[in-house]
Amino acid sequence: MQSYVLHLECSKTGAVYSANQIHNLSEDGMPLLVRYDLDRIKQELSKDSWCVRSAPGFWRYQALLPVSNPASKISLGEVITPLIPLKESSKLLGGKPENIIVKDEGRLPTGSFKARGLALAVSMAHQFELKHLAIPTNGNAGAALAAYARQANIKATVFCPDDTPKVNVQEIQLQGADTYLVNGLINDCGKIVFEGREKAGWFDVSTLKEPYRIEGKKTMGFELAEQMDWTLPDAIFYPTGGGTGLIGMWKAFAELKELGWLKGKLPKMIAIQSSGCAPIVNAFDNGLDHAPLWDNAKTVASGIRVPAAIGDFLILDAIRQSDGCALAVEDGHIINTRDMISKKDGLLLCPEGAATAAGYQIALERKIINEDEKVVLFNCASGLKYPMPIANQMINTDFQINYKDFS
Ligand SMILES: *Cc1c(COP(=O)(O)O)cnc(C)c1O
Repeated sequence: MQSYVLHLECSKTGAVYSANQIHNLSEDGMPLLVRYDLDRIKQELSKDSWCVRSAPGFWRYQALLPVSNPASKISLGEVITPLIPLKESSKLLGGKPENIIVKDEGRLPTGSFKARGLALAVSMAHQFELKHLAIPTNGNAGAALAAYARQANIKATVFCPDDTPKVNVQEIQLQGADTYLVNGLINDCGKIVFEGREKAGWFDVSTLKEPYRIEGKKTMGFELAEQMDWTLPDAIFYPTGGGTGLIGMWKAFAELKELGWLKGKLPKMIAIQSSGCAPIVNAFDNGLDHAPLWDNAKTVASGIRVPAAIGDFLILDAIRQSDGCALAVEDGHIINTRDMISKKDGLLLCPEGAATAAGYQIALERKIINEDEKVVLFNCASGLKYPMPIANQMINTDFQINYKDFS
């Protein structure tokens, strides 16, 4: 397998770094982005030939992925995630069934799209022969790191806020990572990971603080383009925490555009946050380039409880370049929307995914989009990982059952 990687590039200054050694941030403290030899790809491959259909899931896009040693590809059976139209609930959201489509990322290994990013980060860690990885997480990233690190036989240490959903913490520990609860938020966990790099001897795989998670996340963009016959939707609603997925997809679209493989225009990128933690919405509304820290972050959508994002300027750039926007959604609206879509369409979204549907409703009301525009909503994790309403209708077999009650 050959790699088309040219080098890494500082996302702020454009300074070039060698791809032959492992990096965290650039010398300016900014995320590094992987650059590929797109001219050579254009000469050697075509839109139809570049997807290796025998490879599992996103590994088919290997020409635009950084792993060069096939033995370092760490896989847990990734799948192409389905596009599911909201047949009934779309009407209650105010749109048309054929125009509101959910990309259900809950089908990936470890039940969330964090599998994409961590599969790539762990594969590259394996290629560089790293022995110990550490991560701050609201749950899903830690679970994905734990699982892929076990596959690669690399040690993993995970730090979660102490109010992270229990099922997340337990799955991380069960999948073999050293797991710690921290009395703080994800940025406090991030501080521990950063400060321990030398003393504990681990490599920091925080969001955007190493260059490869974003390469995994960008495959959502490739997959969407391939599934939609290389014509993208009018808008993408993305539940935004650290923003890797949004920045990653925007990077994927830029690469495909440059290769000449996309038809039509690029989608509006719409970042959805909870009104209890909306630093990107605040920065977007106030015309800022960076997002100030959000105090007292609180939301049921734990995956997007990120008070400060190192890639904030990249998220804001992508939103603005795409003519998109950032919208905040109330927690009550998120949960009602999740419950409604489950009941109407049998599709159990995670709260973060439900937030995108609620955000769609707001975007329609504010005429940011109209019902004739095709949109894709990202459901980033399995709804099964989160608390659900109680179900307690009992049958007592000591008494006669009145079957008329069921009709
Ligand atoms: C991590 C996560 C997000 C946020 O993704 P980013 O790309 O980091 O912004 C959204 N939803 C869920 C379920 C997550 O686990």
